[in-house]
Amino acid sequence: MADVDTQVAVIGAGPGGYAAAFLAADLGLQVALIDPEPNPGGVCLYQGCIPSKALLHVAAQIMESRTAKDRGVDFGNPKIHLHRLNEWKKGVVAKLTGGLGQLAKQRRIRYLQGTAAFSSHRTLELKQAGGSIKNLSFEHAVIATGSQARPLPGGATEIDFVMDSSEALEVNSVPQKLLVIGGGYIGLEIGTVYAALGSRVTLVEMTQGLLPGVDRDLVQVLQKRLEGLFEALLLGTTVKEMKTRKNGITIVLEGPDGERQTRIFERALAAVGRSPKTSGLGLENTGVEMDKRGFIRVDAEQRTSDPSIFAVGDVAGEPMLAHKATHEGRTAAEVIAGRKAAFEPAAIPAVVFTDPEIAWAGLTESEAKSRGIAYAVSRFPWGASGRAATLGRSDGLTKLVVDPRSERILGVGIAGVGAGELIAEGVLAIEMGTNATDIGLSIHPHPTLSETIMEAAEGLHGTATSYFQPRRKPKLR
Ligand code: NAD
Repeated sequence: MADVDTQVAVIGAGPGGYAAAFLAADLGLQVALIDPEPNPGGVCLYQGCIPSKALLHVAAQIMESRTAKDRGVDFGNPKIHLHRLNEWKKGVVAKLTGGLGQLAKQRRIRYLQGTAAFSSHRTLELKQAGGSIKNLSFEHAVIATGSQARPLPGGATEIDFVMDSSEALEVNSVPQKLLVIGGGYIGLEIGTVYAALGSRVTLVEMTQGLLPGVDRDLVQVLQKRLEGLFEALLLGTTVKEMKTRKNGITIVLEGPDGERQTRIFERALAAVGRSPKTSGLGLENTGVEMDKRGFIRVDAEQRTSDPSIFAVGDVAGEPMLAHKATHEGRTAAEVIAGRKAAFEPAAIPAVVFTDPEIAWAGLTESEAKSRGIAYAVSRFPWGASGRAATLGRSDGLTKLVVDPRSERILGVGIAGVGAGELIAEGVLAIEMGTNATDIGLSIHPHPTLSETIMEAAEGLHGTATSYFQPRRKPKLR
């Protein structure tokens, strides 16, 4: 006999898990939601998206206060009170996770604090805080256990003074010299926070460019700014050796030409990717299968190879983004409730919350090139945007990737302040099958950065109002 019988057991209460649990309950199912934290939220709320965005907001304020001087307002040098900064950040996290706890209660979801492992394809063993063990039986389970930081080669993450992203977001102190290893989302976002707080940041990236896979013209906008913010950006560079010393680490770096150099840092952040979290889940007691990279295999309904078990979010494949997890979670809940549903988005937006932000959705230009897809592209440089000028932030670019025959919008890329908010229009355009003329004819408010999307659409025919380009037919590429 199980201690708890439930129709749906959701393992992991991040944006994938709590979204699945909430919708399953809304659709009339009896739900148990299991997570080690006292409230739902997962890595996104406790150690990822939310604390990092709270800190990035403060970083933006610091950087704004510096540039305000050029516009006639001098705030002086900001004094940073780390304790108060951390208290504020923790308050934001507590408010949101507490709110999710309330929402779970209102829906009569049974929230079980602990970790669960499958004992069969219909039962789970739950280890609760304090060591007690409960057995759960379920009709359907949703695995939403997320991902964990990938260790540096050679286990260097275990070395003193080397932080992962969760530790870095604690901001216990601001090192004078920080090494960031990895020029992806986390390295760039957290590197930006520490640089604004006063660290001299060196970033090393193994490949030849930041944010591998993202269109280079968008990355270039960010890179130009980071060259001023960071002490050094070392591309094509890896860490060869690390040794702790009294107050820091000695690090041997190898550059693109094979040349080695030894440098000393107070601390290092390892941000070289994340991997799906499946160990200790007892998957060997189920029919759930994994792919070569360790992601759980799912179909469009989010169903694993074990028909009563679903998987959503980071554990079920890339991109490892909270909003993708939420939509997958909702798909799984609908299917479990007997509805016809599938996760088949035309566009999943991605946002790097740096300064400036980079955001894209749908087909990127580099993907179109590598897959041999015919496309036309229109770029609108923010130097021609009135709103960007009033913000003192003309460093931006909006681009549309369109089908050259129908002019249907296939992809949107934006680099510039607020790109993360602007990209939602791109997602809607792609999902609704909009073409460039539709966007050009939709009146965008003036003066706003959203006009850059409208003008990029007009620019496809060389007829943007604020940007002169000789008239031309969209070029087939
Ligand atoms: P990432 O995959 O974005 O970037 C890792 C980077 O490290 C890559 O550029 C890679 O080339 C580089 N790298 C790998 N090994 C290296 C080595 N030995 N030395 C130097 N560089 C090395 O991974 P991440 O930044 O750790 O983030 C993990 C995931 O978390 C992301 O893929 C993303 O899906 C998610 N995330 C999203 C957001 C957001 O939505 N804004 C923010 C943070 C994290």
